[in-house]
Amino acid sequence: MLLKNKTAIVTGAASARGLGKATAKLFAEHGARVAILDLDQAASETVAAELGKGHIGLACNVVDPAACKAAAEQVLKVFGQIDVLVNNAGITQPLKLMEISQENYDAVLDVSLRGTLNMTQAVLPQMRAQRSGSIVNMSSVSAQRGGGIFGGPHYAAAKAGILGLTKATAREAAPDNVRANALCPGFIDTDITAGKLTPEQREMVLDGIPMGRAGRAEDVAGCCLFLASDLSAYVTGSEVDVNGGSLI
Ligand code: NAD
Repeated sequence: MLLKNKTAIVTGAASARGLGKATAKLFAEHGARVAILDLDQAASETVAAELGKGHIGLACNVVDPAACKAAAEQVLKVFGQIDVLVNNAGITQPLKLMEISQENYDAVLDVSLRGTLNMTQAVLPQMRAQRSGSIVNMSSVSAQRGGGIFGGPHYAAAKAGILGLTKATAREAAPDNVRANALCPGFIDTDITAGKLTPEQREMVLDGIPMGRAGRAEDVAGCCLFLASDLSAYVTGSEVDVNGGSLI
């Protein structure tokens, strides 16, 4: 029970096979009260109910700072504290550099990067007041390798931006005992990746992974739990790779 009596917010957590839902599930198993935030209220509530009693689902478009503030206030009203924030919401567009329109760029940067800033600003005052908190930001191996098969260059840029934002957050919040770390998943089987590759492409991707298999959502959730819990009490400003050795 690594998160007993803790309250966690996970954004983008209503996707059936997603990293957010797997993380929320593991957090709940470790005693946390979890707030599922996603675009659709009903989908968020469904996932919250699947986790068991005592969790909530809220509609929150992380691109909208007012919605993020309102969601954080609602979580505070229901649970009285906010201990963990997982900034997981993100979208990909498999475009090449010359194909990216201004709209494409805005959409991808908005969800990942602006969304991370918005939610961080929404919870940080409470975490500072509590003098404790852990923020986990979902980056990607795309940030480290310059894109890849799923996300375009704008996705790589958004995820690289998250690394900088994470370190800056960690630096500013450290004196208040609030930590911030980034996770860099590699190729993980979720809705973002499922069915989007030909067998040959999948083989090519797997060839580049020393462990020889795609990651599972649970592989990412486990690292998220480590960063959210007191097991990582002295870890802040770090990037944790969850990629089966893809960068070796
Ligand atoms: P997913 O598509 O299954 O889930 C993403 C969720 O974010 C969805 O439920 C979606 O509704 C939600 N979302 C989208 N826009 C939103 C917004 N504006 N506000 C709130 N919620 C919004 O994706 P996933 O594979 O679970 O990925 C989760 C995160 O991990 C993303 O940030 C993704 O970039 C990152 N990531 C995934 C992989 C992978 O291989 N799957 C690898 C590296 C990083």
